[in-house]
Amino acid sequence: MTLVLRDKASLRAWRAKVTEGTRLGFVPTMGALHEGHMSLMARAREAADLVIASIFVNPLQFGPNEDLSRYPRPIEADIDKLEAAGVDALFLPSVEDMYPQGASTLVEETLVSGPLCGAVRPGHFRGVTTVVLKLFNLVQPHVAVFGQKDAQQCAVIERMVRDLDVPVEILRGPIVREADGLALSSRNVYLSAEDRAAAPLLHKSLEAVAEAYAAGEHDTEKLAQIGLSVLARSERIKAQYWEVRDPESLGAIATVGMRGALLAVAAYLGTTRLIDNLVIGPEG
Ligand code: AMP
Repeated sequence: MTLVLRDKASLRAWRAKVTEGTRLGFVPTMGALHEGHMSLMARAREAADLVIASIFVNPLQFGPNEDLSRYPRPIEADIDKLEAAGVDALFLPSVEDMYPQGASTLVEETLVSGPLCGAVRPGHFRGVTTVVLKLFNLVQPHVAVFGQKDAQQCAVIERMVRDLDVPVEILRGPIVREADGLALSSRNVYLSAEDRAAAPLLHKSLEAVAEAYAAGEHDTEKLAQIGLSVLARSERIKAQYWEVRDPESLGAIATVGMRGALLAVAAYLGTTRLIDNLVIGPEG
């Protein structure tokens, strides 16, 4: 049975009963669970004795014109999936419980949050770090699992945990994809049939760039142009960014060197914004 904890008080009472020596694993989500999320639950299960997930559609990480109100919330189906996966507990707080009136403290990472999604979604990562630190303080997990699907989010959270001495180990789970390469996302349900058919081009663009790199092209501008040219095969796709970045700091690089690189893409299909990424290995 997955125990559903609907407020901070019940979570704290549950957490207080976790015995010393029991390793607690945590998977934060916004719900509308798919196989990508479930792979993180399985990873947490391997790494811990007890697994807790959270579902919280965090208003703080949505911009004013983003999809907060229409974000899918199939809570009963989500609970069934957590049950089936043997997740021990679900933290399912309300917005009012998480952000009491007058809350005026934010957590901001100021470097890794800057480029890529940070540049086009102002305040997004501040919303993420604020809620994730709150969740860490409430759940007090030994280990927390995040998806490589949101590579920049992983990097920002790892930096926050290091900089603020948060006593939690962060694990990254690999990207789970559909058979045609599209990365699973709760937002894929927004796609029209035509847009869904075009969406695998994001992954194809990453693969094309990885191939060009393997064939000897190391110039990041040229690599990004190759990625954009693949996206341009469909007029339904409006690229937002296509970038080749340092894999850890996410800083700009002119050429891909010994450290390898993060290939990162964001694009709109209709009103739906999708992201994807691929890490290309260091030379040699
Ligand atoms: P979200 O519910 O979108 O906030 O995602 C919750 C967690 O699931 C985050 O750590 C995401 O990176 C991760 N996640 C989302 N999609 C995937 C995927 N396709 N593969 C692996 N992890 C994913």
